[in-house]
Amino acid sequence: MPETFTPFTDAHADALRAIVGAEQVSTRQADLDLHNRDQSRHPMGNAQAVVWPLTAQHVADVLRYCNTHHIPVTPWGVGTSLEANPLARFGGVSLAFERMNRILEVHADDFQVTVEPGIGHKDLNAQLARYGLFFPPDPGANATVGGMLANNAAGIRTVKYGASKDNVLKMQVALADGRLISVGSRSIKQSSGYDLLHLFVGSEGTLGVITQATLKLVPVPSLMSAVIASFPSVQAAIEAVVAVRGSGLDPAALEFIDAKQSALLRDHTGVDLEESPTLLMEFHAVLPAALEYGLEQVRQICTELGATRLKTTTDNAERAKLWSVRHHAYETLVRLHPGYTFLIDDVAVPISQYPALIGYVEQVVEQHGVRAYMKGHAGDGNIHCEFPYKDAEELKRAEYINDLIVTKAIELGGTATGEHGVGTGKAHHMPHEHGEALEVMRALKATLDPHGILNPGKIFPR
Ligand SMILES: Cc1cc2nc3c(=O)[nH]c(=O)nc-3n(C[C@H](O)[C@H](O)[C@H](O)COP(=O)(O)OP(=O)(O)OC[C@H]3O[C@@H](n4cnc5c(N)ncnc54)[C@H](O)[C@@H]3O)c2cc1C
Repeated sequence: MPETFTPFTDAHADALRAIVGAEQVSTRQADLDLHNRDQSRHPMGNAQAVVWPLTAQHVADVLRYCNTHHIPVTPWGVGTSLEANPLARFGGVSLAFERMNRILEVHADDFQVTVEPGIGHKDLNAQLARYGLFFPPDPGANATVGGMLANNAAGIRTVKYGASKDNVLKMQVALADGRLISVGSRSIKQSSGYDLLHLFVGSEGTLGVITQATLKLVPVPSLMSAVIASFPSVQAAIEAVVAVRGSGLDPAALEFIDAKQSALLRDHTGVDLEESPTLLMEFHAVLPAALEYGLEQVRQICTELGATRLKTTTDNAERAKLWSVRHHAYETLVRLHPGYTFLIDDVAVPISQYPALIGYVEQVVEQHGVRAYMKGHAGDGNIHCEFPYKDAEELKRAEYINDLIVTKAIELGGTATGEHGVGTGKAHHMPHEHGEALEVMRALKATLDPHGILNPGKIFPR
């Protein structure tokens, strides 16, 4: 894939200003700094100009220009990625979507909404509340819809509602050569031709740029409950995960937190947790009796598996506080480790292999004497191991263990990344995970982006 590009000059910046308007292009250092960072440990990017398109046509025209002049273009949502996904590795343009953030149409009777890609999913849900509807994928941070679709983001609600890919019906995509195409349709059932919609989802801005998306919505549940269950061992907690999934109870969230992190959250947020492997769950129902029946089943499962403590609540404020603590668990960790940076792992396996994966993580962490915290979307077989480090040596060790964990996850029939995407951080695992299929991916990339201008340096190992 070509990795030599035309050096970006003032003349290119002026040409882009002529396309999108002077206010929509910046080469100021402060703007570059903001768009050359994500939330990861990876080195900063090298974008030389930030361009804020206002319309799909702007996106298409910028791409056409950059394709003709061999200038790299890296889409940027709001930079909450954890694997350097939106960082411009080869300079050129950071195509930032902060100014394309409108709801275009709510199709309330179809449970759908059409949006521009720069809208934050939390902002979207705040505006949808008046319709009693919401877009369920929830990665915690106020990620943009474009960034979520491009990374196929998931989160705590995936166990019930699926990942981003399961909640999109149709997109408008700008191709590298400036063509604007429509993929998918607003019909729930689609069986027409190649599934281009899902080719672009998860492609991290390397195949095309999303300029519009029609998303599936679901009704805001009328009744919700939360459960906190503490267990004497990680294995018991994980057995409970498998049992709850197997019972057909359909949890709306099923999260695991290890003992160390549980204690830390208890001590610093006041939420009622124990220093034990802990499961946080949520259930939705339409009738109070159904909610209570489900809770009784969960109590039985957890008690049989030796839960040392079990707390259930249907109080909305208490439930909201619990999930807010879970969502901010990473920020809490960071605050409590001043001077440290975190490497965050993200692997996923079939649920039957989850106990083996967690057992392996515990074993390598202990064997190598490193500090690590574990939490994960257990209901989906997804775990995040978080390694604090403060110098190059500690980082090297964390990266080594991270590689062992990823290799193990792939061997267990899983994947190098459940939801954060490949970026640059997981690229070296792609041959192991995909084998010959990686060559098919390269061929697709070469077809759609022959000059390699779209987010170069991502997904494929160099
Ligand atoms: C504390 C914390 C917790 C997190 N928890 C989760 C979690 O639970 N689940 C989860 O899935 N993720 C999680 N993430 C990761 C992150 O929030 C997601 O990957 C999210 O999808 C990134 O969205 P963004 O808007 O920030 O996009 P960016 O980070 O700006 O970009 C992401 C990718 O999308 C591309 N892109 C952006 N816009 C477009 C577009 N319009 N067209 C084509 N490509 C585009 C970029 O080039 C890049 O490759 C977490 C991150 C943090 C910091």
